[in-house]
Amino acid sequence: MKITIALFPLIFLQTSLVLAQLKAPEIKEGEGPFLQLIIRGVTLINGNGAPPIGPVDIIVENNRIKRIAHVGYPGVPIDSTSRPKLTPGGKELKAEGMYLLPGFIDMHGHIGGKAQGADAEYVFKLWLAHGITTIRDPSAGNGLDWVLDQKLKSAKNLITAPRILAYTAFGMGAKEPITTADQARQWVRDNAAKGADGIKFFGANPEIMQAALEENKKLGLRSACHHAQMDVARWNVINSARAGLTSMEHWYGLPEALFDDRTVQDYPADYNYANEQDRFSQAGNLWKQAAQPGSKRWNEVMDELLKLDFTLDPTFNIYEANRDLARARLQEWHQDYTMPKLWGFYTPSRISHGSYWHNWGTEQETAWKENYRIWMMFVNEFKNRGGRVTVGTDSGFIYQLYGFSYPRELELLREAGFHPLEIIRSATLCGAQALGLEKELGTVEVGKLADFVILEQNPLKNLQVLYGTGAVTLNDNNEVQRIGGVKYTIKDGIIYDAKKLLEDVRILVANEKKDSGETIKQPGVIKKS
Ligand SMILES: [Zn+2]
Repeated sequence: MKITIALFPLIFLQTSLVLAQLKAPEIKEGEGPFLQLIIRGVTLINGNGAPPIGPVDIIVENNRIKRIAHVGYPGVPIDSTSRPKLTPGGKELKAEGMYLLPGFIDMHGHIGGKAQGADAEYVFKLWLAHGITTIRDPSAGNGLDWVLDQKLKSAKNLITAPRILAYTAFGMGAKEPITTADQARQWVRDNAAKGADGIKFFGANPEIMQAALEENKKLGLRSACHHAQMDVARWNVINSARAGLTSMEHWYGLPEALFDDRTVQDYPADYNYANEQDRFSQAGNLWKQAAQPGSKRWNEVMDELLKLDFTLDPTFNIYEANRDLARARLQEWHQDYTMPKLWGFYTPSRISHGSYWHNWGTEQETAWKENYRIWMMFVNEFKNRGGRVTVGTDSGFIYQLYGFSYPRELELLREAGFHPLEIIRSATLCGAQALGLEKELGTVEVGKLADFVILEQNPLKNLQVLYGTGAVTLNDNNEVQRIGGVKYTIKDGIIYDAKKLLEDVRILVANEKKDSGETIKQPGVIKKS
C-alpha cells in the first residue's frame, strides 16, 4: 500500500496521542540481556575512588558481571589471542577507547506528574539517556501502587526505565491525619507491608517524627527528609539523624541544627511561607545565620552526623536558579527537550511550586551565592571527613530538566571542592550504600548487576561531556564541534542507545508542541510606557 506524504502528519499525530495515554510504554528500546555480553577495550572509571584503568574487556552473563579482564596496555595494540572469547549466541560491544562507569544513581527523582505535564516515558528516557540506571522516587507522587507497579515492570525489564525505589510521602493514603505516635507507627508498618522501600518525610511534630523514624528503622527500611520550615524550629536534621533518619534531602534543617546565637530563622514580620517569593528569598539568608565554619557548634553537628553514618543528598542544582535565574532559564536544552506544559509550570506564578519569580533580582541572587558558598563548604568538609554525599536532582521544578540536571549536579559537587573521582563515587557507590544496595550496585565488580554508563570522552576531564547536548569544543581545523553525550546506557545487561532515547524525547516534545500549539517562550514582555 502506498502512503502519501499527506498522511504522514496524521500518523505522527496518532502515534503521539497513543504515547501520551500510556504512562510508560512496553519495552521497545534496548537490546538484551544476553547469555553473554563482552564489552571490549574500555577504560574503566570505577565508583570506588580508584583511578581509571584500561583497556579492559568486561564480561556480562544475563544481568551480572562475570569477569573483568585486563587485555593490554595503553598505547599498545591489544593482543586479540589472549582476550576473552565470545561464546555462541553471545554479543560483542566494540567500545575500544571508550570510558565505562557504573550506572548512575539519582537519589531524588520524581517520576513526573500531572502539573508538570511530564509522563513517565518522557522522564524515564531522559534519565536513561543520561546514564541514570537507578532512581529513588521521594514521595511516590503518582501514588505508591503506581510506583510499585512501575518498579516491578522495570525489574522485569517490561518497560524502558531505570530501576526504581519507592519512598512514600509520610502519611500518604492515611484515612485520617496522623496525630499520635501509635498512628505514626501503624502507618509505617502498613507502608512496609505494601512493599515500599522507605519513607520521605517533610517534618511533623517531634513525637510523631520520633515514633515514625524509630519504627521505620526497626523494620529495616530507609528514609529521606526534606525538613520543611513549618516544623524545623522544633525538629531539625540532628533530631532526625538521632531518631534514625538515613538521608537528608536538600539542605533545610541543617543550618537550623547549626544555630548557636538564635533558635528561629530571622523571618521578617510580613513573611508568609505560602508566598514562595518569601520562602525562597529568605532561605537565601539562612546559612549565614548558622554557626561559622570551623566553630564549636559546626564541628559538633558534623561529628555527630558522621558518627551516625548519615547521608547528605544536597540536590544543589535544584536551587541554582536562585543564584542565577537567567542561566537556569536559558539552558540550551529547553528548546528541544522541555515539554511545553513543563515550561508553563516553570514560568513565574503564585501557584505552581518552585515558580516564585515575583521579583527576583540581583539582591536575591547575591544572597544565594553566599548561601551556596557556606553550604558547599559544609558538604565538602563532610565528605573530606569520611561522610557520605550522594547525587540527587529533584528535577521537574525550577527550570531543572530530568536527566540534564544530573551532570549539572556533578558539576556543582566539583564547584564544592570534590575531585572528579569523588564525584563519580558519590554518583554510584555512595548512592548504592545509601539505598542499602551496595552488594548489587555502585561499582563494576564481579557478581554485581550489569549497570553501566559508556561514553567516548573522559568525563573526569570535563563533566559537561555527560550532558545529552554534549560539550562545545573547537577542533584542529578551527571548527566548532559538539562532543560527548552518553553513548550507551546499560541497565540489567540491556544495552540502550542513549542518543536514540534522547531523539525519541525530542520527537515526543516536537509532537506535543504541534498538537497543543504551545511553544517555549521566555516569560513576559517589556512594558511599553
Ligand atoms: Zn523533591
